[in-house]
Amino acid sequence: MAEIITIGEILVEVMAKNNDQKFEETGEYVGPFPSGAPAIFIDQAARCGSRSLIISAIGSDGFGRMNLHRLQRDGVDVSRIKVLEGQTTGVAFVTYQKDGERDFIYHISNAACGYIDEKDVCEEDFRDCHFFHVMGSSIYNRNTYLAITKGIELCLKQGGKISFDPNVRKEIITDNEKRNLLIEILYQSHIILLGEKELSYLMGEEQERKNVETLLGRGAEMIIVKRGKRGATLYTPNNTVHVGAYPVEEVDSTGAGDCFGGTFVSCINQGLRPEVAVRLASLAGAKAVTKKGPMEGNTTLEELKRMYEEHYNQKPV
Ligand code: ATP
Ligand code: MG
Repeated sequence: MAEIITIGEILVEVMAKNNDQKFEETGEYVGPFPSGAPAIFIDQAARCGSRSLIISAIGSDGFGRMNLHRLQRDGVDVSRIKVLEGQTTGVAFVTYQKDGERDFIYHISNAACGYIDEKDVCEEDFRDCHFFHVMGSSIYNRNTYLAITKGIELCLKQGGKISFDPNVRKEIITDNEKRNLLIEILYQSHIILLGEKELSYLMGEEQERKNVETLLGRGAEMIIVKRGKRGATLYTPNNTVHVGAYPVEEVDSTGAGDCFGGTFVSCINQGLRPEVAVRLASLAGAKAVTKKGPMEGNTTLEELKRMYEEHYNQKPV
């Protein structure tokens, strides 16, 4: 039975070959690569040694099989991935702008993963669930939202905790109504992983410290603000820890946050201290950006522990 469960999009990602390429223009792309924020997260959670399950849907096609085989290889329980005849697996195209921002074109809601719904979320799967992880990018239609809500209920009912990454994509979180759904989930979450801009966007307040205090006051146990190549900060009710980024050459930033989250939650699930887990997660995020393809830089806990010992000159305990 799974200890960590997530739900949401499985897709392939096709990336612009050059920076500042525009969707409006013809150009070269690379891929497809296995992707989808929940898929990257759960793949990494499994690679770090926790029993991990994803609830999702793919088409009966090569893109679906690519993802299925990758997740299976890495130890994810794939028994709740529906293979839908007559539907196609989700696809995302991504371009990278000069300022580091990215644009996406998603085929998600109109693809197999648009058919995830409440019926896919079964109580028996949640019997041993320690963490139910929610990605904000998975709220691309009403049915996935209802499925996520049911997952939250089932997890809380049997004593599990909610981890949440709003993973705001302007192409998916298109209006205030969707933002409000994210806020609702935010306030139910025990572990919150998010970027600086996402925190102020959701909380409507610029000051990070104030936002963090509000969330801790409402029951959050760990908040991690992710800052790309500037590292990350962990806030708990009695501690603040800043972790600098591990120096690497960034090849592709997509997926780093999901890999970071999968590592962090998996380490917490295995009883590691949050201060150690956040360092291991930061090393995982750094490793992730050295590879082209959002899931290609995922790595094992042994490798991360080796990097930790080398970098911090002590064992990760
Ligand atoms: P995404 O949504 O694209 O997956 P994110 O915005 O959620 O990413 P980031 O802050 O980009 O998350 O990355 C997560 C973590 O990975 C950072 O907090 C940092 O520890 C590590 N990281 C990211 N980029 C780099 C980098 N260029 N060099 C070193 N570490 C990095
Ligand atoms: Mg993210």
